[in-house]
Order: sequence, then structure tokens, then C-alpha cells
Amino acid sequence: MNYRREDIEALVRAVVTETLGGAGLPPAEKRQPKRLLAANWKMNLLATDARRFAAELSAAPPGVEVLLCPPHILLPVVREALGTRRDVSLGAQNFHPEPRGAFTGEHSAEQLRDAGASFVIVGHSERRALFAETDLVVGTKLARALRENLRPILCVGETLSQRRDGATFRVLRTQLDVALAALPAPAPEPALLCVAYEPVWAIGTGLNATAAQAQEAAAFLRERLGERFGHAAARRVRILYGGSVTPENAAALAACPDVDGFLVGTASLSREKFEALGRTLSAAAGGGDR
Ligand code: PEP
Repeated sequence: MNYRREDIEALVRAVVTETLGGAGLPPAEKRQPKRLLAANWKMNLLATDARRFAAELSAAPPGVEVLLCPPHILLPVVREALGTRRDVSLGAQNFHPEPRGAFTGEHSAEQLRDAGASFVIVGHSERRALFAETDLVVGTKLARALRENLRPILCVGETLSQRRDGATFRVLRTQLDVALAALPAPAPEPALLCVAYEPVWAIGTGLNATAAQAQEAAAFLRERLGERFGHAAARRVRILYGGSVTPENAAALAACPDVDGFLVGTASLSREKFEALGRTLSAAAGGGDR
């Protein structure tokens, strides 16, 4: 007989509640982290634009955590413009896994934290394609980020030719498995980990994955995470979709049950569009924490 995961969890919750005399697990929706709206500004914007963007950015809507990943040099500028706000986090777009040393032009995790970052994007397809980052390098960075208290957003995704060859899930599995294999035991707190499904053919092309494609990939990734960390933990890992997300296509993508947020490039350079994406995610989350 096949049982649904929700039914099993409800049963476990009921048993624990009874055993503990009413002090059981919190309801499932209380244990889910907020949806994440992450901006990857890449190598765009000058200090004046970044400062204005951060200063004018409206409050994170209910149920949504907002993250800005500016170019490293702009991290302190954006941090200063955000002031004491707690509703917007900062992240880096990359880092060097060594703690210090002769790595001209690079930044360590500690330096990025010092500049205000609490997240870091790892394995973005542009890093993989343009800077020769292999799955093994990505795995090393993933492990180091967690060890250095930067919350990683691990990017995975297939190229167009891989999708046409029917290799999408093989690519996703390899990229995810190799990266996760680098993590030492014990398993990380799942809420600290984000995985972004970013089909390479959709990044910066104006050609987004359909909701069905995004959901299929996100569900596949969650299943693999479940095999590695356990299914309850995998539900707390945020899985993002990234690839030409716009206010026009966001609602369908946000409605995917396994899509917990967006990683946004082009549209994140417009404050108005970025805010619209936040509202869409908030509406999909029911306007509150999940
Ligand atoms: C990205 O680079 O992570 C990205 C999703 O870019 P875009 O939104 O422009 O496709």
C-alpha cells in the first residue's frame, strides 16, 4: 500500500503529540523557512545605483526573505544603505575556499562576512562555464561556505543540448551528488542550505522554464536531498528556480509546490520588478510563513 508523505508526517505528529501530552511538534507550516527572493546583480551597477536601490527597496513582504547579492565591492555600500533593517540579507556571488593567502583578486568567506554577506552563491553556471569551476570545486566551496557560516545557494542546471539529449536529470543528479558528497558529517541544518535549479538555457535569455519543467526539476532535487538527508529535512531545504524570472511569468513558477523562491538576475536590476516578484512569492506563500 502507498502512503503519502503528508499522511505519514501527520501520523507521526499525532503520536508525538499524544506521547508528549500536547507538547508535540509544531504544525508543518511553522517549520518551513520563508520563501527566498534572491537578487544576483552579477557585474552590474555602480555605487550610486546600488545605494539608491537598497535605500528605496520596500519592506520584505510577509512570508518572504529578501536577499541582495551585489558585486563584492558594493557589499559595504549596500549594507550601509540598508542601515538597521533586518528584512533584507546580503550575499556574495562567489568566494575562494581558502581562508587567506596569495590568491590575487579573490575574496575569502571571512572577508565577505566582514563586508556584510551572510549568504553566498556557489556553482553558478557562469562560474562553471566561464571560470572552469568543476563539480568538485563547487563541492569544496559548498562545504567551506557552511563551515565558514555563509549560507550557500548551490546552483545546478542543464544546458540546452543536455536537455535535448534527455540528460537533464543525469546532470542534476551528478551536480547535486558531487557537491553534497563534499559535506562532512553531520548533515547541515537543512534550513541553511538552498539549491537553485537554474537551467543554463534560461539564464539571461528571456526564455524561462515552464512551471511544469521547474516543478519536475525541483521535485527531483528534493527527492535526491531526501535520499541524502531524510525526507523531512529535505522539505526544509529551500529549492529556488532561476532563469529569466519576470513579474509576468513569476506567478506560475511560484505556484509550483517544490519551488521555494527565485534566484533572479536581469529582473533584479529593476527595483520595481524585484519588488513585484516579492509580492508574487508572498501571495503564493499565502501571505505568511509556510
Ligand atoms: C542568474 O544569473 O542566476 C539568473 C537567473 O539570471 P536571469 O534572471 O537574468 O536569467
